[in-house]
Amino acid sequence: MDIAVIGSNMVDLISYITRMPAEGETIEAPDFALGCGGKGANQAVAAARLGSEVLMVTRVGDDLFAANTVANFEANGIDTTFVLPTVGTSGVAPIFVDEQSRNSIIIVKGANASLTPADLEAAEAEIARCRLIVVQLEIPIETVHAAIDLAVRLDVPILLNPAPATHGLDYARVAQCEYFVPNETELATLTGMPAGTTNEITAAAAALIEKGCRNVIVTLGSRGVLWVSTDGEVLIPQDNPVEAVDTTGAGDAFIGCFAHEVTHGSTVHDALVAANAYAANSVTKRGTQTSYASREDFTAWRR
Ligand code: ADP
Repeated sequence: MDIAVIGSNMVDLISYITRMPAEGETIEAPDFALGCGGKGANQAVAAARLGSEVLMVTRVGDDLFAANTVANFEANGIDTTFVLPTVGTSGVAPIFVDEQSRNSIIIVKGANASLTPADLEAAEAEIARCRLIVVQLEIPIETVHAAIDLAVRLDVPILLNPAPATHGLDYARVAQCEYFVPNETELATLTGMPAGTTNEITAAAAALIEKGCRNVIVTLGSRGVLWVSTDGEVLIPQDNPVEAVDTTGAGDAFIGCFAHEVTHGSTVHDALVAANAYAANSVTKRGTQTSYASREDFTAWRR
């Protein structure tokens, strides 16, 4: 196994709209798509499509969405031993995407809220065989903290994507992560520092480095990514010229590709360059997982 993803799965209910509805207003969406999503599942699928062996640790409900989610993991070659059943609803995410590709997303955590530290203990032997653990914040915060503790105990590097932006993350544990990968909003929420300009982002990331983080990787949307480590900061601009159609799930594509690359011999810098390209490719297509290229398609596109 290359990567253990400990995180969420959601069923995306995506309405493509011409503009956002006002309060109390009903509008018609010209198009709709149902897709498999959730930050954990998205990152797992991106890494698996690129060729990684991925173990998914997550919970699904006992509704009509669960079988579809498991089938989707299997279709992508992901190990579903620890896709655990829960009484109740699966996670669902109603998403609105407008003509300027801006999005609004509602998260119903459902079964994801029932992923416990005990579930991680049950999967410990399998997680111990992985070369990287990847975790996000769509599961209970105590499970995120337990994942970091487990990573430290097993001596497996861990990547924490603090998304969606949440208060209550334990700073001491954040400092134990090999890779901490927020976007600008998440960085501002976590540090309580402004993260509007490049200087502000650099200062906020540097504050995390001072607390002990090894690699703070701030995704900057169409501008690319800023990597801050004890060696200083490196801006890796988005130099893949693309026309963005739908940026939903771009951050997850980025992390899935980065995780794949660093578990397959790439340096952090090279992995970030590849992740910028993979995420750029994903924004040229609609949807979340539907926009993630296979290794073959990605390789052909990059040439
Ligand atoms: P999130 O989706 O988590 O908010 P970002 O918006 O920072 O994250 O995007 C993650 C990565 O996706 C960026 O670092 C970049 O590589 C790529 N990306 C996002 N938006 C665009 C865009 N409009 N054009 C090209 N690449 C993009």
